[in-house]
Amino acid sequence: ETLDKGLEKSKTSFFNKLSKAVAGKSKVDDDVLDNLEEILVTSDVGVNTTLKIIERIEARVSKDKYLGTSELNDILREEIAGLLSETNVGEATEFSIPTAKKPHVIMVVGVNGVGKTTTIGKMAYQFKKKGLNVVLGAADTFRAAAIDQLQVWADRVEVPIVKQAMGSDPASVAFDTLQSAVNQNADVVIIDTAGRLHNKVNLMNELTKVKRVMQKVVDDAPHDVLLVLDGSTGQNAFEQAKQFTAATEVSSLAVTKLDGTAKGGVVIGISDQFQIPVKYIGVGEGIEDLQVFNKFEFVDSFFK
Ligand code: GDP
Repeated sequence: ETLDKGLEKSKTSFFNKLSKAVAGKSKVDDDVLDNLEEILVTSDVGVNTTLKIIERIEARVSKDKYLGTSELNDILREEIAGLLSETNVGEATEFSIPTAKKPHVIMVVGVNGVGKTTTIGKMAYQFKKKGLNVVLGAADTFRAAAIDQLQVWADRVEVPIVKQAMGSDPASVAFDTLQSAVNQNADVVIIDTAGRLHNKVNLMNELTKVKRVMQKVVDDAPHDVLLVLDGSTGQNAFEQAKQFTAATEVSSLAVTKLDGTAKGGVVIGISDQFQIPVKYIGVGEGIEDLQVFNKFEFVDSFFK
């Protein structure tokens, strides 16, 4: 239900365009395919992924000889699901938090404004609801606002937070956070880091240092690196994904603000292009508005 609500704008926009493209046509022909290509690109599916989808539909048209425009919806659903199932990306599931070995450390990266803090707050809420003990670390120390915002979420969810003054060393905050988590026997640590894309070398150095210092406390930390991307920024999200994956090993993605955009297709493009599973999607500002992403449910819900 929240998924449907979160995708409303994207669906309305997509199906309005699609119905214009097929108006007065009973058959899927070259014209319809050209229009469909444009609609997919303007929905931020990305050019590469769009071309793959169009190719699959063309192959179907030539095989089936006749495809009615009324079937286009079902065909799109089938072909996009087919395409996504071919990528190496495994089905994303919730973070599995091993109880035998504590704490499980999740390092969260992403530029300011994408919804990083909000996503961390929503995740902490979900973990806590499951009975897990969560500790937050405010290692995005460049802006005072980032630390304050995380504190607001820590208060809302009622989980402990470790922080230092603005401008302090992110690695030092991460170290303190892990130590505090070990002392409290916490299950999950979520570390907020790197809010700016200065230059690639600095970013890489900062993240490498944070990791190295964390490993002094928990030898295989971080267990997950989650990159948060703003789904309403289209090609910028693709660009940020490129930069962060070049700077550090990203194990999963969160794509936020899908409720506020008509370009939800970005999730399909990102799933296809980066060999990293989309773990979460953000579909609102509320504490409950974070969903574990399932690509097949997403496609089903979109083309329903
Ligand atoms: P950060 O700078 O990356 O930590 O970004 P914040 O978490 O502070 O979020 C920036 C703004 O985006 C805030 O106003 C959030 O409420 C909003 N936001 C975050 N996630 C979502 C989402 O999924 N949907 C909507 N509509 N707004 C979101």
